[in-house]
Amino acid sequence: MIPRSCDTMVALANATSTGDVIFAKNSDRPVDECQPLELHARQTYADGAVTECQFVSLPEAPVTHRHIGSRPYWCWGYEHGANEHQVVIGNEGLGSRLPEASEPKLIGMEIIRLALERSRSASEAVDVITGLVSEYGQGRFANDAGVRTYDNGYIVADPREAFVIETGGHHWAVKRVERALGISNVYSIETDWERLSRAAASHAREHGWEGARGRLNFADAFTLSRRDEGSGAMRRRRACAVLDARLGDIDARTMMSLLSDHSDGQNADEPFVVDAGYAGGICIHCNADGTGGNTAASLVSELCADGSRLAVHWCALYSPCLALFLPMFVEGELPEALAIGGETPSDDSPWWTFHRLAAAVRVAPDARAEAVREAWAPVQDALSVSAYEMAGEGRRSIDDGRATDANALLTRYMAENTATMLRVATDLLDWLDRLAA
Ligand SMILES: [Zn+2]
Repeated sequence: MIPRSCDTMVALANATSTGDVIFAKNSDRPVDECQPLELHARQTYADGAVTECQFVSLPEAPVTHRHIGSRPYWCWGYEHGANEHQVVIGNEGLGSRLPEASEPKLIGMEIIRLALERSRSASEAVDVITGLVSEYGQGRFANDAGVRTYDNGYIVADPREAFVIETGGHHWAVKRVERALGISNVYSIETDWERLSRAAASHAREHGWEGARGRLNFADAFTLSRRDEGSGAMRRRRACAVLDARLGDIDARTMMSLLSDHSDGQNADEPFVVDAGYAGGICIHCNADGTGGNTAASLVSELCADGSRLAVHWCALYSPCLALFLPMFVEGELPEALAIGGETPSDDSPWWTFHRLAAAVRVAPDARAEAVREAWAPVQDALSVSAYEMAGEGRRSIDDGRATDANALLTRYMAENTATMLRVATDLLDWLDRLAA
């Protein structure tokens, strides 16, 4: 059984039209699991401080870096996030053949947060993640808190490079990204790993797993089920085909369209499919009766290598095909409203507002989704201009030693955009309510 779904992609500077590294992730979660967006300031800690994760405690780092994270309301960790050093990380649920562990481990989402807090580059994040996986482990483990646990795959990126990390229990493999790729809920690191945990090959050999002879095929060895079948395999094929077809031409809009895509993946090369009635594709929609899973939040990060502007992190709430991608800056203060939301629906939570919007569209998906997309289009177009102006101006202010001015500018910009987004969403909901009446 696939433990859950999600998709993560990255395109390096040699694959994008802008020379930026562009990262993207859809977090697909249970349909009603609220996922607010938070910012945490840099903090310093005294010797002997301890980080309390849900099931494991570990020594705190001397400094945790400023970062934003998209956090399922019940969890300390994140589905995806970005820090002040332009390190971005997202994960995928994987199903390995390792048995469920009886002792407590780290949750994959906690590992994302720990790595964002402790890394100044993608390669440092690889060291943090592989170190934590080796020492504390992750994957399926028994717990009485009702937490669904699974093995994890990650993409970590910075403005210069990106890596895929895949794990099974305490084992892991690391692959360097060459140009552009996507990962999903299937193991994908074969014999093309750059680094491997110490015991991965011998463990696979001892158990007589497939792929254990010669140079270890990590994916063949650790996967529980066939890697070429099922929704995860289909979504990964689709993401890779779209990126391959656009090498050198990929931009943030490409990634937003890919995250919003409803192609069933049978024809991986077809144009983007915008059909909100289809319960599949990279943009996951729940069942018609409101059960199942749904994309809970999305991120497209543009990481700037030449120092000419700040990183832009485009964040969307709930179904990306029905949402606005808001440009966020780690160097400003995020609107506090974005962090509001818990287990039950609340009117003051932007996340729950987009949840309501998706439910209203579901009543008559085709016509209503088109109207929603039309409402967002001019707003998104305007943001696609202003965000880069802000990214440039913010960068120049910080380089001139005016970080406080940059913070104020970006804070105001994000607050205004969030207010606009909520106004349009509320108007759309009023209109959809009137249709229903
Ligand atoms: Zn969709």
